Amino acid sequence: MKLSICWLYGSSMNIYGDRGNVLSLAQRCRWRGIEAEIVQLGLGDPLDQGAHDIYFWGGGQDREQINVSADVQGAKGDALKAEIEDGAPLLSVCGGYQLLGHYYRPADGADLPGIGLFDATTTAGNERFIGNIVVESREFGELVGFENHSGLTHLGSNAEPLGKVRVGRGNNGVDGTEGCRYRNAIGCYMHGALLPKNPKLSDFLIRAALRRRYSLDVLPALDDSLETTAHASAVGRALARR
Ligand code: GLN
Repeated sequence: MKLSICWLYGSSMNIYGDRGNVLSLAQRCRWRGIEAEIVQLGLGDPLDQGAHDIYFWGGGQDREQINVSADVQGAKGDALKAEIEDGAPLLSVCGGYQLLGHYYRPADGADLPGIGLFDATTTAGNERFIGNIVVESREFGELVGFENHSGLTHLGSNAEPLGKVRVGRGNNGVDGTEGCRYRNAIGCYMHGALLPKNPKLSDFLIRAALRRRYSLDVLPALDDSLETTAHASAVGRALARR
């Protein structure tokens, strides 16, 4: 079996270790004998519906988001939304997450339109939220990452948060939510990289891709002792800094 991992804007939106998410997905497939290819889709590249199995869109600075916001409008964004409606799994972090909402309003300059996959809007705040973040998710249990953003994201009535903030700031530092969840798509502020320390999330994305591509819902367990130790260590650091 083979899964194609589409890394959206990997050359222009890839900060604070986000590349590790793509490497983790590919390796957790290969450890199970599933061939994994990583395909980078950048500015001007078309998105072919049905060509990919898992989507990842990392974080990036405001200046990168300007070009990417323009690039993802129209056919490309419509194709990505159609993929998610078809059950494709997606993980997005920070700047990528923001552009999957309705818009990102930077501190200065015009609003950057998103594609409205998530019923969410983001406006730059005066404070930068930087530090370890621990989140309680009903679906994935405890999640740990690292946040670095000034954007304040507010979820609309059709959006479901990924989880509740236990340590850190999350979507906006006020309502206690972190991230957003729609079908098999996840948006969040957890850099780090997120997936190597949260193997349940990796396997959720891989399993959703296998279900969609091969109508298969079996994923052999892996020895996650190293991942679990890394997770506990990161949570310990986060709790120590509260
Ligand atoms: N420019 C956005 C913000 O600061 C996203 C930054 C990021 O992706 N870390 O909120």
